[in-house]
Amino acid sequence: MIDAVGEDRTGWSGAALSARLLQVLLAKQELDAEVLRLTGQWDAAAAWAEDGALSASSWLAHRTATTKADASVLVRTARLVHGNERTAKALAAGDISPAHVEVAARAARHVEDLYADHEDTIIDAAQAVSPEDFKVVVNHWRTIAESLIDHEPPDRRFDRRHFHLSPVLDKMARIDGYIDAEAGARLVATLDAMEPPDPTDGPEPPRTLAQRRADALVRLAMGERPATPTAMDVIVDLDTLTGRLPADLTTARCEIVGFGPIDRDTAVRLACDAAVGRVIMRGTSEVLDVGRRTRIPTPAQRRALNARDRTCVEPGCDVPADWCDAHHRIPWIDSGPTDLDHLELRCRRHHIKEHQRRRAPPQQRAA
Ligand SMILES: [Zn+2]
Ligand SMILES: [Zn+2]
Repeated sequence: MIDAVGEDRTGWSGAALSARLLQVLLAKQELDAEVLRLTGQWDAAAAWAEDGALSASSWLAHRTATTKADASVLVRTARLVHGNERTAKALAAGDISPAHVEVAARAARHVEDLYADHEDTIIDAAQAVSPEDFKVVVNHWRTIAESLIDHEPPDRRFDRRHFHLSPVLDKMARIDGYIDAEAGARLVATLDAMEPPDPTDGPEPPRTLAQRRADALVRLAMGERPATPTAMDVIVDLDTLTGRLPADLTTARCEIVGFGPIDRDTAVRLACDAAVGRVIMRGTSEVLDVGRRTRIPTPAQRRALNARDRTCVEPGCDVPADWCDAHHRIPWIDSGPTDLDHLELRCRRHHIKEHQRRRAPPQQRAA
């Protein structure tokens, strides 16, 4: 370990300061890794109980200069290292950093068993990317893990949607809400199409993005529409789409382009049918399916479908055809054909419900 404490660094060049900082941070990283290993052992032996503490994190919060939140993170991360051999080995070898393990431990909360099952794939990915990029990778793993164990059915998340608008003092109103990712992506794309950025050399200073979206929302409420319909593209890799863990997590993707990650079930439903372009990838470069080719009904098929079903087919629902998706009764991923006998109209809400109903654990489906 280098001794940099109290070192006189007056007159050091920038390069020398950078080099020393890197050295000290590396030493700290090694020490942090040791703290994780030791905390894991100490916790597994329940050594904290010998001092009358109720939990490992309360012992840490009382005996050390650690906040309760940081103590919980340390214990959670240390448990992941202690309980998973490959993780411990990669950390000891310096192949992954304590920051990687902390990110992994956060993502593995409540799905620790699946972490153990998928540990090799996760650690392979961790070794290949920075802790920052690993956040995205491991969150993608988490959405797949959730769909494998049915951790939180997406329709329960969908049920949490809400929109509050409350008058506040000073003649303003406050908006607050929660909508699903697809709705969010559509809304943002529509708002941004209606209010593109202002010129920087106009008579007035350009509005902020948030101001433009606020203006567009009001115009939308007054009945205006964007000049051109907004397009939405989904990128998802074939493994994720079919419910398998991608062998290389760093190339796995499941997202709405320009918006962000979505869960696997949303990708499956969007790929079933919706006014979205779809690009399904294998690896980073091989494009398997560029949407709109065979899975979207032709305009003639869609007219016939609208005439036959007229509204959403869910009993009691009368959402008109124009607002419905064409749902494949046999999932197209299982080679369900795009013909009238195998299509039906479903409004967005009942399209979500129907996919939820027929959703079987992917392992079962593959058998
Ligand atoms: Zn569908
Ligand atoms: Zn409906």
